[in-house]
Amino acid sequence: TIDLGSWIARRAAISPERPAITFDGETLTYRAFQQRIDRVAAVLAAGGVAAGDRVGYLGFNHVAFLESMLGAARIGAIFVPLNFRLTGSELAWILTDAGVHTLVADGDRAAIVDPALAETPVQRAIVVDDGAPGDRWESYAALVGAHDPITAAAVVDPSDVALIMYTSGTTGRPKGAMLTHSNFFQNNVNGLLAMDSSRDDVTLVGAPLFHIGGLNVTTLVTLQKGGHVVLMPAFDPAAALRMIAEHRITTMFGVPAMFLFMAQLPEFEEADLSSLRFLVCGGAPVPEPLIRRYGDRGIPFAQGYGLTETAPLALVMSVDETSRKIGAAGKTTCMLSDVRVVDPDGADVAVGQNGEVCVRGPQVMAGYWRNPEATARAIDEDGWFHTGDLGRVDEDGYVYVIDRIKDMIITGGENVYPAEVESVLYDHPAVAEVAVIGLPDDTWGESVTAVVATGGADLDLDDLARFARERLAGYKVPRRLEFVDALPRNPSGKILKFVLRENYS
Ligand code: AMP
Ligand code: MG
Repeated sequence: TIDLGSWIARRAAISPERPAITFDGETLTYRAFQQRIDRVAAVLAAGGVAAGDRVGYLGFNHVAFLESMLGAARIGAIFVPLNFRLTGSELAWILTDAGVHTLVADGDRAAIVDPALAETPVQRAIVVDDGAPGDRWESYAALVGAHDPITAAAVVDPSDVALIMYTSGTTGRPKGAMLTHSNFFQNNVNGLLAMDSSRDDVTLVGAPLFHIGGLNVTTLVTLQKGGHVVLMPAFDPAAALRMIAEHRITTMFGVPAMFLFMAQLPEFEEADLSSLRFLVCGGAPVPEPLIRRYGDRGIPFAQGYGLTETAPLALVMSVDETSRKIGAAGKTTCMLSDVRVVDPDGADVAVGQNGEVCVRGPQVMAGYWRNPEATARAIDEDGWFHTGDLGRVDEDGYVYVIDRIKDMIITGGENVYPAEVESVLYDHPAVAEVAVIGLPDDTWGESVTAVVATGGADLDLDDLARFARERLAGYKVPRRLEFVDALPRNPSGKILKFVLRENYS
């Protein structure tokens, strides 16, 4: 079988003594890791978790996260990772929507969610480290110590749901993307085929595991290959540089900001990065200056593109392509992905024209949890998942992802892509943070509006418009300027443009 619960068990049979995971100064071999997973499976089962029930995890990166996920998979339960930046009421909403039976949380997050637990379906609460906020919390360490490993894993169908991951929701309530055991397997095949992953890889995991990129890009690929995962509780650029040298890290996944923060540190120049073979970047295109900065140190990037709903790998570029096709998302390196860019009628757009990026393949989610309407809107009858991303294809077949479609502005019949205008305005010295949105306008349909946080610097519309006009076509230049102290963001840090549009309409 290919189910998630079997991966480490198979590795433990093949290479029991190899290191699987290092966390907080301790290393588990594949054998020891699998034994802990099977103890956690026993703990969950003893508390009444059955196949198909949901097990939540709330906390910073921790070996207990992976043990809980894989332990749940061993008994056919569904894992629900939760964003550790959410508030108590946001967490309660998701716990209720997902119908979580058992919740595992670290001490600090347990305290945040505890007051809201009574209004959720959660029946059992387990705390990973010290700091249980009350009597109802059982100790993870004590439970794992008190249970023998399960002796037989549940029989799981590849089409069974393994995990529900809530998407960050920049447009409304979060939706739970259901990823099946097959989705995980196929995503890993995509990753293994596209990246030169090796059993000697040591990957540093600083991106959050509750996010699909942190969980599935190098973490699970490395484990399935029999390599070594080094976990950080949360990303810290200085610690990352130290750990790369200490653990002889060979690869790492991150969003561009993580690699930027590392490169901005004074110790970057002196840091021993000689073990790094390649870095994997997702979430946004890796900017050219960063490619050069790391390239000078002999470290190439591999660019990926994907979404929670695609588990996530839809496109990956080789390191050569990433330095040649700067800003692109990828071509067809992911063998198990079909990617098209289509117009509103569903026809392929011509080279250079913009349309919606659509993905089809065995890694595309089964649908949104208990939300058939949203599923039907997202996945069409032919199995194409509509990403909501605006993209175009160049003459060589490379896809460029430009912006979210919902954020596009139509002014005087011209399309304006906020991401392009924002990247120009960010170069203005008085702009600390900016979001560009379209607001209703009697003459133009929509008018390009810049919402700016200046951090105290002087700025007016004439000044900003003059700056923009030297760099952008006239129709892209902001006609309206609004000031904020800080931009509204969701707990993942994405800007909530719908809130801005409501505020100023
Ligand atoms: P999430 O649903 O949180 O996993 O975020 C997925 C979104 O990140 C996509 O819909 C894109 O808008 C964006 N994204 C991911 N990779 C790239 C990339 N290589 N280039 C541009 N945007 C990207
Ligand atoms: Mg999304």
